[in-house]
Amino acid sequence: MKKRILFITGTRADYGKLKPILNLLINDQDYEIKIFVSGMHIDVKYGETYLAILRDFPTNTEIFFNNSEGSDSSSCCAEMIHGMNRYLKNNQVELVVVHGDRVEALAACISSRLNNVLVAHLEGGEKSGTIDESIRHAISKFANYHFVCNEAAFKTLTLMGEDRKTIFNIGSADMDFIIKGDIPSKEETFKKYDIEFISYGIILFHPVTTDIKGTIQYCEIMIEAILDSGKNYIIIDPNNDLGSDEIRNLYSKSLHDLNRFKRFPSVDFEHFISLLNASSLLIGNSSAGIRESPYLKLSSINLGTRQDGRIDFCHPSIYNYDLLDALSLKDLITNTWNKRNYPSFNAFGSGNSAIKFKSIIDDINFWKIKLQKKLNY
Ligand code: UDP
Repeated sequence: MKKRILFITGTRADYGKLKPILNLLINDQDYEIKIFVSGMHIDVKYGETYLAILRDFPTNTEIFFNNSEGSDSSSCCAEMIHGMNRYLKNNQVELVVVHGDRVEALAACISSRLNNVLVAHLEGGEKSGTIDESIRHAISKFANYHFVCNEAAFKTLTLMGEDRKTIFNIGSADMDFIIKGDIPSKEETFKKYDIEFISYGIILFHPVTTDIKGTIQYCEIMIEAILDSGKNYIIIDPNNDLGSDEIRNLYSKSLHDLNRFKRFPSVDFEHFISLLNASSLLIGNSSAGIRESPYLKLSSINLGTRQDGRIDFCHPSIYNYDLLDALSLKDLITNTWNKRNYPSFNAFGSGNSAIKFKSIIDDINFWKIKLQKKLNY
């Protein structure tokens, strides 16, 4: 009898981490795989990224709109709980797989556990700023299994009382893709997105939901510094967190010189990595500046507190910037532009995470875990 697994994705930020695992499991005779797609994926404002998932997995994808009552995170969370509840009551599912720290993952996790369905959580145990930290740890409390990226995350989960027998350090599956080098060429990506820059930086900046005022201040000085730098930039819009409309409005007001700025709501995962690989600098506060860019030996300027705690790894390519001074930020941009002579980095896995995930769930004992969690306090 095939094991039925439901993967949850609510944002571009988790899809790249699920895709290598989905590729491995999708045609395996031991598993029946469905993908529950919701959240930012469905919204035109965030680039309708569900279309890429439909292209990748046309017969396995369930689309669910969880923003009919409003696009604020609280409403989306509530609707997602309802939607998951209905899905789980009408479909037999043995395991729900969630990733990271978005409300869709939290909602799916709550609904699954309340319906006695096992939950596996990818990339828990990490520290960061904003509300993400609380959501990520709340998911860990619900999850039956944890697939973490590194020993630091493993240790954090054990300190939170999670049973070490349920925690597996497999790395991050998006690194599988990067390490295998299966990346579209720069030319292919430029053609798809109509980009013609010779050299460029990438801007990827999100709100800190607990500090909207600080978010706006950082965004303003970032805009001033990149305007003054005289360089070209690809700007990728923020996620749907509280404060993102303010960022979008600031971009629309100031970054309209089409000779220097190319703006996208989102870019397909593979092409995002290709753009990152060919760029001269990443600026903002995306997790990509802590994970992918150090691996690619690309300088990243990390603004403010959003990634606080994730910086345990202290890679020299990561420049933490917490002043509110456009002039010194512009100098930092000049000094780090195209600097690539960094040591290698593997704090998020060594390229075989999907295989490790599969070998763990292939074990029959994995499925025999008791529904009642036991915590070690
Ligand atoms: N990403 C993507 N396309 C984009 C921007 C990001 O596929 O246009 C993916 C990529 O894997 C990246 C991840 O989303 O590492 C994180 O992106 P984001 O900054 O949106 O979210 P965060 O993880 O910081 O919450």
